[in-house]
Order: sequence, then C-alpha cells, then structure tokens
Amino acid sequence: MCDAAVVDKYIPWGRISMSFLLPKAGNKELTMGLMGGTFDPIHIGHLVTAEEARQQFKLDHVVFMPAGNPPHKDEAAITPAEHRYLMNMLAVVDNPYFTVSRLEIDSQQPCYTIDTVRRFYDLYNGNLKLFFITGADAILDITSWKDYKELLASCPFIAASRPGYSFDKLKIIMGSAFAEVMQRVHLLEIPAMAISSTFIRRRVAENRTIRYLTPESVEQYIYKNNLYIR
Ligand code: ATP
Ligand code: MG
Repeated sequence: MCDAAVVDKYIPWGRISMSFLLPKAGNKELTMGLMGGTFDPIHIGHLVTAEEARQQFKLDHVVFMPAGNPPHKDEAAITPAEHRYLMNMLAVVDNPYFTVSRLEIDSQQPCYTIDTVRRFYDLYNGNLKLFFITGADAILDITSWKDYKELLASCPFIAASRPGYSFDKLKIIMGSAFAEVMQRVHLLEIPAMAISSTFIRRRVAENRTIRYLTPESVEQYIYKNNLYIR
C-alpha cells in the first residue's frame, strides 16, 4: 500500500501537497487516464499513446505515474526516480492535458497499481472515472499483478498496440484468461512505434543519436546528467 505519510512534501520554496499538480476536483466528474511505467526515459511511444487515448476516450487529463520502486523490475538497474520524474515533467510541459504525479516515487514502499488506483479514487472522493493506459505488452502479464481482477473491475484499461504484441498473439499466450481480461480492456490502435526505453538507453550507451525519439528537452537532460552511459 502506498504510504499515506508521503501525501505532503517539503520543497525549497514551501510546502506543497501531493495533489498540487493534479487536476482539481470540482463538481463535475473527471475522466482521467493514468499511465504507469518506469519511464526510463519517457519517449514518444508513451506520449503518442497518451495523446491518442486522451482524444479517443475523451479524457479530461492524463496523469503520468513514474514508478518509484517497481516490484517487477531490477531496482539496481533503474535510474533514480528523481531523474525519471524530471524527464517526465519536461516531456509533458507543453501539453495542457498532461501532468505527472509523485505519488509512487515518493512512497517508501513498492506501489502496486491497485493501491495507486484506490488512492486516486479517494483523492477525488469517487468523483472520478479512471482508465489505466498501457501498451499491449502489459496486458500479457496482467494476471500476475496484485488483485488484478479487482483492479480491472474498478478501472478499465486502454491498451495501445505495440509492435511485437499483436492481440492475436496475446490471445494464444494468455489462453483462458484472455477473454475475461479483455472484457475490461479497450484496444487503442496507435501508429506503430517500435520504440522502447531500453532501445533509447542502448543507443545512448552506444553513442548513437536519439534525436526525435524523445522530446528535445529530455534528450538534453539525458546528456547533461550523463544518464545511460555505461
Ligand atoms: P522498457 O524498455 O524499459 O521496458 P518501455 O518503453 O516499455 O521501457 P515502460 O516505462 O516500461 O516503457 O512502459 C510504460 C507503459 O508504456 C507500459 O504500459 C508500456 O506498455 C507502454 N509503452 C511503452 N512504449 C510503448 C510504445 N512504443 N507503444 C505503446 N505503448 C508503449
Ligand atoms: Mg516496458
């Protein structure tokens, strides 16, 4: 469970609430997309997916949620959360519908998606319609996520097409779980993007250009901080 003690945080110019940058809850129900990931680094595959989901599903906002201590990944190999958070901030700054949440990176413990989703519903007193945005690859292992049935029941998924992960292939690999899971998953066709953070990290390490694969500000941030250099 995400740590409630991280809700407020001191920053050099004062005290802000965890919800500081999040869209304000009003009388109207908000429709929001939540996109979780390691974002090491964020790239145009993430941004195109989020923007397409926003438009097709008429989302008021998309919140990017960089993972702090992802339970499924080797922690030592992941860039410090503050760098990943700042790169997300740089990437979303020119889109009025996009924000980044610190909820998971400020948590002292690993956060599971079901806990994050619950926190969001609490934050908005239930006055929220939430979609969880992923790539098709995430659907493949969703049955291993904590309380995945409850998660799907409380928050429908939007799964973007991703080269190498056709839904026909998912159907074969997931077997009987596929039909049940897909009842709560909306498919989102995006222009094919064979881009991953792994691909970007490898290219930086090999001194190859990453121009246009991620926003220029993120590219500059990577070089300025010597990220991904082996
Ligand atoms: P890595 O190579 O480190 O796994 P990644 O590019 O897969 O990085 P993640 O941070 O793991 O990025 O992914 C966050 C979310 O974005 C996941 O749901 C993932 O499926 C989705 N995603 C990432 N890249 C793409 C892409 N090119 N097209 C569609 N969805 C994507
Ligand atoms: Mg990934």
